[in-house]
Amino acid sequence: ALVVRQRMKSSGRWARCMAIVKEFEEKCGTPEGKLKQIADAMTVEMHAGLASEGGSKLKMLISYVDNLPTGDEEGVFYALDLGGTNFRVLRVQLGGKEGGIVHQEFAEASIPPELMSGTSEALFDYIAEKLANFVDEEEQIFHDLASGRQRELGFTFSFPVMQTSINSGNLIRWTKGFSIDDTVGQDVVGELTKALKRKGVEMRVAALVNDTIGTLAGGRYTSNDVALAVILGTGTNAAYVERAQAIPKWHGPLPKSGEMVINMEWGNFRSSHLPLTEYDHTLDIESLNPGEQIFEKLTSGMYLGEILRRVLLKLAEEASFFGDEVPAKLKIPFVLRTPEMSAMHQDTSSDLRVVDEKLKNILEISSTSLKTRRVVVELCNIVATRGARLAAAGILGILKKMGRDTTNESGKKTVIAMDGGLYEHYTEYRKCLENTVSELLGPKTRRAFSSSTRTMVRASARPFLPPLIRSTSMR
Ligand code: BGC
Ligand code: MG
Repeated sequence: ALVVRQRMKSSGRWARCMAIVKEFEEKCGTPEGKLKQIADAMTVEMHAGLASEGGSKLKMLISYVDNLPTGDEEGVFYALDLGGTNFRVLRVQLGGKEGGIVHQEFAEASIPPELMSGTSEALFDYIAEKLANFVDEEEQIFHDLASGRQRELGFTFSFPVMQTSINSGNLIRWTKGFSIDDTVGQDVVGELTKALKRKGVEMRVAALVNDTIGTLAGGRYTSNDVALAVILGTGTNAAYVERAQAIPKWHGPLPKSGEMVINMEWGNFRSSHLPLTEYDHTLDIESLNPGEQIFEKLTSGMYLGEILRRVLLKLAEEASFFGDEVPAKLKIPFVLRTPEMSAMHQDTSSDLRVVDEKLKNILEISSTSLKTRRVVVELCNIVATRGARLAAAGILGILKKMGRDTTNESGKKTVIAMDGGLYEHYTEYRKCLENTVSELLGPKTRRAFSSSTRTMVRASARPFLPPLIRSTSMR
C-alpha cells in the first residue's frame, strides 16, 4: 500500500511538473505572426527614436560615424574593447589596399567582478594599466612607433553613450551587471584619458564607439555589402547605416557621405507583443536595472541561463522536480550561466551525461532520472528558441526600416555582421536565429551572415577596427 501511495504521489508531482513546463512553453510561444508584429513594432520605434530625443524606448543614438572603413586603410592602430565580461587590448597593423592585415596582437582579461560595482576611477585605472602593459610589451617587439608619433586609440565601449562628438560621449546608464554610479553622466573618454595620464600612457583617444559599430566597421572592412551589425553576447544590440536625412533629430551639418551610423540600443526595446512570462517579470524586478533592457533580458547571454534557473526553481519548489528538497544552489541568482545551459541543450549523449554532470557540478543535484534530464533539455530549448526568434524578429524590423526586407526594392545584397559570445558559441541558438531570419524573409530574399570580425580568440580572426573610424565632416 505504501509503495502504491508513493507512486501516486510521484505521478502527481510529475503531472504538476508537466503542467508548469507546458504553461511556460505556451507563454514563450513565438509563432511567425507574432514575430512579424514584433518586427513592425521595432520599425515603428526606430522611426520614433529618430524623430526626437527621448521619442522612444529605442534611443537610436547618433554615433558621429559617417564613414566606414573601405579596406584600404594603412598604419598601426590600437584599440580597447570594454564589453560585458571581457576586456581586450589590441594592436593591428594594416597594409593598405593590397596588404590587408600585416600584424595583429591582442591581450584579453576578464573584468574583476568587484570593479563592476566599484568606482569609476578604479575601473578606468584597471583598463589603463592593462593597456600600459600591453603597449610596453608590444613596443619591445615592434619599434615602428617609438619614433615619437602620437599613438591613436580606438575605444569600443559597449554601453549606451550619448555621443557629443566622434571621440567624446556621456554614459547614459550601465547595463549587463555593471553599476558604477559615478560614471553615469560622465564623458567616458574623459575618464579614460585621466586614467591614461595617471598611468603614464601617451595615447589620444581618436574614436569612441559602441561594439555594434566596431562590428559594423570590421564587417565593412572586408565586405561593402555589410549594412547592419548585431551583437548577441552578454548583452545585445544592433547598429545600421541610416540616411542622414531620415534622422529628424539630427540638427548638425549633413555629412558628405549622406549617411550616419545609428546605435539603436535595441536591448531596451519593449512591446506589448513580447512574450513575457512570470519568470521574466521577477527577473526584471530583481535585476540591477528594473524596467530597462527588456528585450535584452529575453534574448542575451547574461539572462538565458538565469531564466532557466528560475523555471527550474519553480519546478523544484512547487512540484518537487528534484525530489523532496529544493536544491540550495538553485536559489542563487545567476548561478546557472548560459554557456552551461548551452552545453546541456546540446548534449547528444543518449543518457544525457552532460546534463547530469552540470546538474551535479553547478547545482549539487546528485542523481536525476533520464526523464528529468530530458525536461531540463526541453526547457533549455524553450528559452533559447524564444530568444533567438525574437532576435530574428528584431533583425527583420531593421531590414524593413532600411527597405531591404524584400528583393524587389533594392537588388542589393545585404550582409549582416554578427558578433558576440552567444552567437559564436551557442550553436543551437545561432541555427535557430538564422533559420528564423530565413523563415521571416521568405525563400526569395537574399541574405547572408558574415561571422565575426572582432573575435580575437579565433586563430583566423580578422581585425577589430574601431580605430579606423573617422568622422570626416563633423569633428
Ligand atoms: C549595451 C549595448 C551593447 C550591447 C552588446 C548592451 O547591454 O547597452 O551598448 O552594444 O549590450 O554588448
Ligand atoms: Mg563584446
